[in-house]
Amino acid sequence: MTQRIETLRAMLDELQVDAFLVTNEINVRYLTGFTGDSSFLLVTPTETMMLSDGRYEIQLKNECPEIGALIRPPSQKMAELLEAAIRSRSSWKRIGLESAQVTVADYRDLNKRSPQITWVETSSVVENLRMVKDASEIATIRKAVDIAERSFLSMVPLISPKWSERAIAHEIESRMRFLGAESASFKPIIAFDSAGALPHYQPAEVFMPSRGSLLFDWGAKFQGYASDITRTLAIGAPSPDFERAYNAVLESQLAAIAAIRPGADGRDVDKTARDVIVKAGLGDKFNHGLGHGIGLQIHESPRMSANCEYTLAPGMIVTVEPGVYLADQYGIRIEDDVLVTDTGCEVLSTLAKGLDDCRLVL
Ligand code: ZN
Ligand code: ZN
Repeated sequence: MTQRIETLRAMLDELQVDAFLVTNEINVRYLTGFTGDSSFLLVTPTETMMLSDGRYEIQLKNECPEIGALIRPPSQKMAELLEAAIRSRSSWKRIGLESAQVTVADYRDLNKRSPQITWVETSSVVENLRMVKDASEIATIRKAVDIAERSFLSMVPLISPKWSERAIAHEIESRMRFLGAESASFKPIIAFDSAGALPHYQPAEVFMPSRGSLLFDWGAKFQGYASDITRTLAIGAPSPDFERAYNAVLESQLAAIAAIRPGADGRDVDKTARDVIVKAGLGDKFNHGLGHGIGLQIHESPRMSANCEYTLAPGMIVTVEPGVYLADQYGIRIEDDVLVTDTGCEVLSTLAKGLDDCRLVL
């Protein structure tokens, strides 16, 4: 963690600030290891300080003992504690803030309380550091992937027409927790047939059909880090249409993975995947970006889509998840978690994805 703060500290000159205020709690966690909330971090060229409250006094000592903490009493607001901290350092003139985190009301309040300070709006400073995972983060995400996969493999043979979407969602989450996850990394998307055509569907009390499809999108959260996998299973014999669409999605996903390497542009990888689906005549059915970074958040940079502003670098972990969605029929998505390596990439998730391997036989 110390190294992460040092990396941020080394950027203060370039940002032209005397201090940097981190208010996004995930960024605070990334930099310090502190897993609580409602706490701010101030980093200067010579100091690192946490601003928090009495509920977290012990936890801060346990999780980041090397960082000094200013603890506000219940009678003091966080804004007052911050104001006092700033007043005690007369040399501070310019403080960087995370513009995507601060509301208009907060911003006005900061200016009112500390009129001597120029607040410098920054964006994605810590988020950009978070894009490239270090060895410990990669190991943690591997574990999150492993838990998700073992949970899936252990339950798929049990799925029967007695199970509803909600029951399957509950079961996968329970199994992931049993294997050491702190929770699911997001609410699992379990969708039979036409419900699969809604990419962010929420499971309902709907029971499994005797023939059709099951879109299964899930992930585990392990020590704060997310995995995110999708498999689409054919229930009974797939129709020729379904099979053709499935194979187009699979071919698209494999083409995208083959294009992932350091220096690749996220937009180009997205286009590589999209071209395959367009060629199959399903271009208008692929209605979202190709993938996203995973880490402490389920969706983070870099996003791989037509809007991507990043080139891939070793240590980034992204999902590759092309899909096609046919209203009133089915949705098909295949999603894996992919680590960019020095020479190309490594697919961290290992579940089989050929249609023959993705069959629920009743
Ligand atoms: Zn997913
Ligand atoms: Zn995803």
